Amino acid sequence: MSTIVDYETTAQVADAIQIQYVSKQYENGTIALSGIQLLIAEGEFVTLVGPSGCGKSTLLRIMAGLDQATSGEVNIQSDTTSHKEQASFVFQEANLMPWRTVRDNVALPLEISGVPLAERKARALAVLEKVGLTAYADSYPRQLSGGMKMRVSIARALVSEPKLLFMDEPFGALDEMTRHRLHEELLNIWMNSKLTIVFVTHSVFEAVFLSGRVVAMEAHPGRIKQIIPIGESYPRTDAFMTSPQFGEKIREITNTLT
Ligand code: ADP
Repeated sequence: MSTIVDYETTAQVADAIQIQYVSKQYENGTIALSGIQLLIAEGEFVTLVGPSGCGKSTLLRIMAGLDQATSGEVNIQSDTTSHKEQASFVFQEANLMPWRTVRDNVALPLEISGVPLAERKARALAVLEKVGLTAYADSYPRQLSGGMKMRVSIARALVSEPKLLFMDEPFGALDEMTRHRLHEELLNIWMNSKLTIVFVTHSVFEAVFLSGRVVAMEAHPGRIKQIIPIGESYPRTDAFMTSPQFGEKIREITNTLT
């Protein structure tokens, strides 16, 4: 079970991601990020929050190796596997292939990396069980609700057994109830693994419920304004959401952002 909630007190834990003086200027001249410094420990759940345009997605994409910094460095722990093999990405859109069954959608990354058919079927089924979709393995995406499609997307991201999971507003298009159920499921998956998760959201509520630390960013140019440890142990329950500590963290982060 992952228990790391406050990186500052866990000096013995290895860094999963080291971000040093990262800046990003797009070709049109927009400075999306300026001088970002952030260390993320192995097994942490860290969330980036901030107004639109503060560079959350840009920073996540750079961490995941999907985009390059203009200056500065991102180091990912373990140099024995490539970026692609150890990191997975989940976007707001589930992006499933409509002509493939749920199982075959989940197995796609394994198919691309040449894993034999029997093994990829077995691994896809095992990960579908983790997201509670075993009964839908032979269904097609059009037969699923939005929340179920997102579960399939998460299963597809997990099937390659990544060490790092990058999530860009994954629950942004879902209704409140579904969103909260997925929060609990995601935390369960994370607690039962050694995953390091970096999550992007507009929702301060979501950030506080999920994260060990929240990185509050500001725009023009995108910078880290403050890093707020949540200081609440896992598993987190509904009681946390109605606790005074929860309200205090929401206020602290909201004040930082405004
Ligand atoms: P956020 O995820 O916090 O909304 P983004 O990382 O998407 O922020 O964007 C940061 C800034 O960079 C914004 O000003 C945005 O308009 C700009 N930007 C993002 N992508 C590009 C791009 N491909 N080309 C030019 N500017 C971009």
